[in-house]
Amino acid sequence: MDLYLNDDHRAFVKKVRGFAEDAIVPVARELDHESRFPWDNVKAMAEMGLLGVPIPRELGGQGLDGLTYLLTVQELAKYDASHAITVSAHTTLGTTPILNFGTEAQKERFVPRLARGEILGGFGLTEPGAGSDASGSRTRAVRENGGWRLNGSKIFITHAGVGEVFTVTAVTDPEQGSKGITNFIVTKPSTDPDDAGRVGMGSVEDLGYTPGVKAGKKEDKMGWRASDTRELLLEDAEVADDHRVGEEGRGFINFMKTLDSGRIGIAALSLGIAEGAVDAALHWTNRRKQFGKKIFDFQPVQFRLADLATEIEAAKHLTYHAAWLMEKGRPFSREAAMAKLFASELCMKATIECVQLMGGAGYSDQQPVERMLRDAKVCEIGEGTSEIQRMVIARHLVREAFGNA
Ligand SMILES: Cc1cc2nc3c(=O)[nH]c(=O)nc-3n(C[C@H](O)[C@H](O)[C@H](O)COP(=O)(O)OP(=O)(O)OC[C@H]3O[C@@H](n4cnc5c(N)ncnc54)[C@H](O)[C@@H]3O)c2cc1C
Repeated sequence: MDLYLNDDHRAFVKKVRGFAEDAIVPVARELDHESRFPWDNVKAMAEMGLLGVPIPRELGGQGLDGLTYLLTVQELAKYDASHAITVSAHTTLGTTPILNFGTEAQKERFVPRLARGEILGGFGLTEPGAGSDASGSRTRAVRENGGWRLNGSKIFITHAGVGEVFTVTAVTDPEQGSKGITNFIVTKPSTDPDDAGRVGMGSVEDLGYTPGVKAGKKEDKMGWRASDTRELLLEDAEVADDHRVGEEGRGFINFMKTLDSGRIGIAALSLGIAEGAVDAALHWTNRRKQFGKKIFDFQPVQFRLADLATEIEAAKHLTYHAAWLMEKGRPFSREAAMAKLFASELCMKATIECVQLMGGAGYSDQQPVERMLRDAKVCEIGEGTSEIQRMVIARHLVREAFGNA
């Protein structure tokens, strides 16, 4: 992939791989079993700068390009998708809405702390009645005493427990449909102050928590079990007007822009899982013997792995091309949807096939492909389901063919 990667990219990936092999591999199975957030590793990733890879240096980040960030997510996902989504949700969903749409004061206040990994962030769009149709938001923001009062519930929010800073959507003008939705920053304490404190994260004293914001019950999920997913409740939450992000009525469009880049992140994460599964199956089938020879020596096994390797290469081109367009400031919504659709469906297929290639061992939790299969499924759901990606792509096709008329 020399078209996209330079020596700096490769060196960064090597650093992430070293960390993953030393610190993630030994604990990934246990974290998954216990559905435990990896505080020690999150702190270590913060110290390596992995919680602020594409954020400008002057705002506490590493100032690296978008591709380095995607390669980080991809490499972590080869070893454990929960670590990868922690970096991805914190960066794309938690930090960039404030970076891209916030005021200078908001950026100064929140972005350096997020980028350095002192606190974790997230993004609250999904609601009980507003999933794929995110414009169906019921969370209401009403003007009061120069500020806002927010009421509503956000569901399936990554980091709603462990995180402290969230950009959320709320309806400020019900008459305007999706143009009546506005973004706000809300803050809350971590649900896990002891572990956060133990590793020296969280509870930044002067953060100033928003009254009325709290985390709900933790989800018991099929995959991404070491990632924290919960409800985020807004009960008469009092939000100052200087915590409004962007203009009133721009919240939906700004979240859609955030999701475009988030989708490239999920494509990279899916790629990582698929690569991890194929690597495991390649090694297993070259070790395991049946009928007097290595399983890999049976041609149907070779063909399966060859097909998956080819599709992984295709997914890389889609993903890195979308990232390249984004980096150049060119439109990339269509390419991001294509990359996410193709890579997430490939990741599901690859993990199912690799479990099959590894037989009973692949189905057992002694091998990471069992976890990878469970981790793969949500890649087809989060940040827009496969059906929503197809709708986005089809909309672009019509626009390109017939214009906006
Ligand atoms: C682990 C996890 C983490 C998440 N993290 C976050 C987060 O941090 N922040 C956040 O805001 N959200 C988050 N989400 C929510 C996620 O983005 C939504 O689950 C997703 O957008 C789908 O919405 P839904 O679950 O309500 O499904 P629904 O919208 O109810 O969809 C159900 C099914 O119907 C299909 N469908 C819906 N409409 C159509 C249509 N028009 N045509 C064809 N098919 C259709 C869907 O494709 C899907 O297959 C997370 C979800 C999970 C599982």
